[in-house]
Amino acid sequence: MTREEAIKWLKTFKGNTGMTELSQAFDVAIDALSAEPCEDAISRAEALKAINEMDIPEDMSVFEIKSHIGVEISILPPVQPQPKIGHWIILPPIFEEICKCSNCHSKFKQALQISNSPCPNCGCRMV
Ligand SMILES: [Zn+2]
Repeated sequence: MTREEAIKWLKTFKGNTGMTELSQAFDVAIDALSAEPCEDAISRAEALKAINEMDIPEDMSVFEIKSHIGVEISILPPVQPQPKIGHWIILPPIFEEICKCSNCHSKFKQALQISNSPCPNCGCRMV
């Protein structure tokens, strides 16, 4: 099934759910599937991997290296940016900062964990 076919099916059955929450879930799924890949977004991990795997001769000039990196980055496929999602990890009370972000491992006071605020360090949305 293609993405377009899935969107069509979701739209067809969205009105037949009889439940507000289920109808909202259909809307979220339709929106997620309708999002087009961002042509200017690439994977940081894939870019670093491509650069690390480059074969750079010792006599290559800085200009040639920059050009080579540009080519490697320009041929990477576009990706759809996804929001970072994490959770607060509650630490034993012997630590002064008693919760840490599951994404970046920064430690904070428990008040952040209680409020479900995004991580102040990496912006990760907490669920
Ligand atoms: Zn974080």
